[in-house]
Amino acid sequence: MMMFVTGGSRGIGRAIVLNGIREGHDVAFTYVRNAGLAREVEQEACALRPGARCRAHQLDVRQAADVERVSEAVLEDVESVDVVVCNAGTNRDNLLVSMSDDEWHDVIATNLHGSFYVCRAFLPAMLANRFGRIVLISSIVHNGATGQSNYCASKAALHGLAGSIAKEYGRRGITANVVIPGFFDTPMTRETLPAANKEFWIKYCPAGRIGELDEIAKVVTFLASDGGGFINGQAIPVTGGLDWVV
Ligand code: NDP
Repeated sequence: MMMFVTGGSRGIGRAIVLNGIREGHDVAFTYVRNAGLAREVEQEACALRPGARCRAHQLDVRQAADVERVSEAVLEDVESVDVVVCNAGTNRDNLLVSMSDDEWHDVIATNLHGSFYVCRAFLPAMLANRFGRIVLISSIVHNGATGQSNYCASKAALHGLAGSIAKEYGRRGITANVVIPGFFDTPMTRETLPAANKEFWIKYCPAGRIGELDEIAKVVTFLASDGGGFINGQAIPVTGGLDWVV
């Protein structure tokens, strides 16, 4: 199968790309700034499975026209895109009372509008094939967190987006689900989460640790597999159980 993954240059997206390659899929993925890291992911994919197709595309998911251009280029390059993973995301934390228009719009545009543009761009090809798997990457804080109203609102909206796609296109062989990551060690969490959050996680998470990147990548790959075919419109926590205690 052919997968399209946004934000595959690092962190969770990179793990999803490489797990897809390991599981025998071809992958097109995007980055926005880190061309060097994207090349490294391409090279790693080739080393994991020589002959696999793995190609990086520069894309800012906030720009609808760019999403259209890149999706057309991908679809010209490969015969079909079977799996779309909207993983690209950003956070710009601030208390609501101090949040600037720019902080609000940037996060909503990347996390929500970007996912909408990407799903819209690939749905016609999926409809033509009567097959598609869409996975949107949410967050454990989608129900709200102090200082993250923009991020939480963008992630909560993804649940409505996935549920709507599930209902509109389930009969056409297309599933859409949300995966809810807990705490994973990535550039995003390393750069923006205080060390205290990691300590809290390890202390209170029933699993007693943060997640391994492959643990989320494998859930995404499972949703794309035959075994995931009847899972539709769901939100799947990959949190080690912490959502039961926060
Ligand atoms: P990182 O910040 O490590 O990686 C973000 C990825 O998104 C990069 O590939 C980046 O590209 C890309 N990206 C950022 N902005 C844009 C944009 N405007 N257009 C296109 N691509 C963009 O994040 P994580 O790996 O930690 O997170 C991945 C997803 O998981 C996000 O949606 C995040 O919200 C979610 N998540 C992560 C958690 C965690 O614990 N890490 C917890 C809960 C949710 P480039 O490298 O070129 O900048």
